[in-house]
Order: sequence, then structure tokens, then C-alpha cells
Amino acid sequence: MERKPQKLVVELMRKGATLLKEPCPKCGGILLRYKGREICPVDSGITSIEELEEVAKPKEDVSDEVIDISRNKLRQLIKMASSETDLERLRLILDNSMKLIEIIKEMESSKND
Ligand SMILES: [Zn+2]
Repeated sequence: MERKPQKLVVELMRKGATLLKEPCPKCGGILLRYKGREICPVDSGITSIEELEEVAKPKEDVSDEVIDISRNKLRQLIKMASSETDLERLRLILDNSMKLIEIIKEMESSKND
């Protein structure tokens, strides 16, 4: 059974993937970038766009978004904290900041799995 990565490459390019200048470090073949991911049509073992969408989606997209939102929120909280004079409210702001930092840490470490 022979795989046909060329077909996938053509489909990907049609979907907006770009061809990278650097060859694949593993097999020396072509490397594509799609939705922020570098994909080697040979090594990835992916044979269809559908498979790719499934692999490319869940983790990175969602966690990146959550990290972005959490970081923005954290920045807002830090600003609030710097001008807050009520100690009780300051404590609440700092509590929430700590929670956000935990979330960011968790999301970032799960991305590297
Ligand atoms: Zn490769």
C-alpha cells in the first residue's frame, strides 16, 4: 500500500496552507504550514484533510485562546490592584490573579505534552 502525500499537499494548498522553505528535518521532504502547524505530509501519517482538521484543532487552538484571554484578564487585574485602596477588594483581586496564573501555567504545560 502506497500513500499519496502529493494529493494531500494539493488539497492543503487549496485550503490556504503555505509551503515552507525548509525541508522536513526527518525525511527531507516538503513541509507545509497549516493553521500555525508545521506538517510533513509523509511523517504526519495524515492522509486526508478531515484527519488533519481533527488533529490540528482541539488542543492548540483552544488552549492558546484560553491563555490569551487569561493573560489579558490578568493584566487588567494587575492594573486594578495597583490603584485599589480597599484591602478587602485588593485581596479579592490578588486571589483571582493567582487563579488566572494557575490556569495559564496549566494550559501551557498541557500544550507541551
Ligand atoms: Zn517528513
